[in-house]
Amino acid sequence: MTSARTVRDLPIAIVGGGFSGTLLAINLLRHGVKVTLIERSSAQLAKGVAFGTRRPEHLLNVRAANMSAFPDDAKHFVRWMNFAEADEANRFVPRLTYGSYLRELLIAALAKAGPDAQIVDAEACSITFDNGAAQVHLADDDAVDCRAAVLALGNFPPAPHPVFDGLDPALYAPDPWDRTAVEGLADLSEVMVVGSGLTAADVGLSLESSGFAGRVTVLSRRGLRPHAHAESGPVVTPVPDPDMRGARLVREVRRRAAEIGWRGAVDALRPHTQNIWRRHSPAAQASFLRHLRPYWDIHRHRLAPSVAARLAEMEEAGRLRYIAGKLCGAEAENGRVTVSYRPRGEDGTAMVTVDRVFNCAGPDGNLGRVDAPILTHLLNAGRIRGDVHGLGVDVDHLGRVRDAEGKVQDALLAVGPITKGEAWEVVAVPDIRRQVWGLARFLADEHWVGGEGL
Ligand SMILES: Cc1cc2nc3c(=O)[nH]c(=O)nc-3n(C[C@H](O)[C@H](O)[C@H](O)COP(=O)(O)OP(=O)(O)OC[C@H]3O[C@@H](n4cnc5c(N)ncnc54)[C@H](O)[C@@H]3O)c2cc1C
Repeated sequence: MTSARTVRDLPIAIVGGGFSGTLLAINLLRHGVKVTLIERSSAQLAKGVAFGTRRPEHLLNVRAANMSAFPDDAKHFVRWMNFAEADEANRFVPRLTYGSYLRELLIAALAKAGPDAQIVDAEACSITFDNGAAQVHLADDDAVDCRAAVLALGNFPPAPHPVFDGLDPALYAPDPWDRTAVEGLADLSEVMVVGSGLTAADVGLSLESSGFAGRVTVLSRRGLRPHAHAESGPVVTPVPDPDMRGARLVREVRRRAAEIGWRGAVDALRPHTQNIWRRHSPAAQASFLRHLRPYWDIHRHRLAPSVAARLAEMEEAGRLRYIAGKLCGAEAENGRVTVSYRPRGEDGTAMVTVDRVFNCAGPDGNLGRVDAPILTHLLNAGRIRGDVHGLGVDVDHLGRVRDAEGKVQDALLAVGPITKGEAWEVVAVPDIRRQVWGLARFLADEHWVGGEGL
C-alpha cells in the first residue's frame, strides 16, 4: 500500500505534451515538482497539433507580442525572435517557428531539471487510482506511477458528418489537422471545405501553396467567415469587468463597437470573458452557444492580415467561394463526390461535384464520440463526465475533474481546450498560459502572493 509520504514523492503525470502539457511541465519544474510528460507523437512533442505544422504558410493568429509562453514575462517570445521594433512584434509569424520556440523551452527545462523530469514516448490508454495515488497505463503495457494525472489532450478532430460515412479516404478528409490531408492534391480541380473557420483558411492556403489551381467551395450553415486582424497593432482601452448579462451585454458591446470599432470593443472584453461566461447560468450559456457563437467566433478568432489578403485574391479570381447552406447528402461516383445541400433560406436542394471534401467543422467536444481510448476508459470507470454543453471534460475552477457523480478529484485534473465548458475562453495561448501557471502553483502548494502582475 502507498503511504501518504510516498505519494508526495511521486511525479505529476501529464498526458499530452503539446502546448498546454509542455507549459504545465515547465511551470511545475520551476516550482521543484517532479514531472512525467507523456506524449504519443515525438514529432508533436512541445508543439502539439497547432504548432507541429510543417507548413510555413500556416501563420499564428495572434501577434508575436502576445505569444509569450509566460504570463510574468510578456516579452519573452519577442526577445526569442530578436524582434526589436514594435512593428516587428506586431507580426504574425509562422506557427512552425512558434513550435521551435516551445521545443527549445522544453529542452532547456529538461536540462535544468535532471532526474526530476521524464518524457515518455507512448500513448496513455487508461488511468487507475489507489489510495490517493494514480497510475497511468500506456499502450506499450508500461505504467507511470504519479500523485496526480493531468489531461492535456488538446483539440479533438471535428465531429463526423454522417452524410460522409463510408466515403473512400481519397474523397473525404475527416481530420483536417492530419499532415497528409492536403498532400498530393495539386491536380484536383474542385474541392469542398465544410466549415468556414480558421482551419478552413489553413486548408485553402495549403492547397494554393501546393500548386492546386482549382476552386475551393466553402460550405457552412450561415456562410460566415473569420474577419481579419487590423494591419497595425491593437489599441485596447481597458474596461472594468462589465456586470451586465445576456442581451444587455450584447447591446453594450454593440454600442461600444459603434463608438470605438468592433475590434476594440471585442478586445476590451478579453480579460473578462471567462468571468462573464461563469456569471451566466447554463441556460444562458447554451443560448449564447446556439445563437451568438458563430458571430463571436468570427470577430474573436481572426485571420492574420496577409492570410486574409491571400484568401481575398483567391475569391476575386473565382477560385474560392463561400456558400451558406445545410448539408443533405453525399454520393460517390467515378472517383468524385456529389454533395447536396439546402441553401440557407431556400426550400430546394443544390448540388456540387468535387474531388475531395475536408471536414473543418471545428473541434469535437463529445467525450463519448471522440476516438480517444483514455477518455473511453475514464468515462466507463465513472472518473469523468462531459460538461453540460458537450464542449469537453467537466472540471472545477482549479481544473480538478468531476467524476460521474459530480465529485471533484484531487488526483485527476485537466488543462487546455478540453476545459472549455468551465472557462469558455481557454483555447488560445494567452489564456492557456495563465491557466497552466495557476494550476502549477496549485499543484505545487504555492501560496498566492498579491500584486504579482497577473
Ligand atoms: C490548427 C490550430 C491552430 C491554432 N493556432 C493558434 C494560434 O495561432 N495561436 C493561438 O494562441 N492558439 C492557436 N490554436 C489554439 C490551440 O488550442 C492552443 O494554442 C494550444 O495549442 C492547445 O494546446 P494543447 O496542449 O491543449 O493541445 P495540443 O497542443 O494539440 O496538444 C495535445 C497533445 O496531446 C497528445 N495526446 C493526446 N492524447 C494523448 C494520449 N492519450 N497519450 C499521449 N499523448 C496524447 C497529442 O499527440 C498532442 O500532441 C490553434 C489550434 C489549432 C487546432
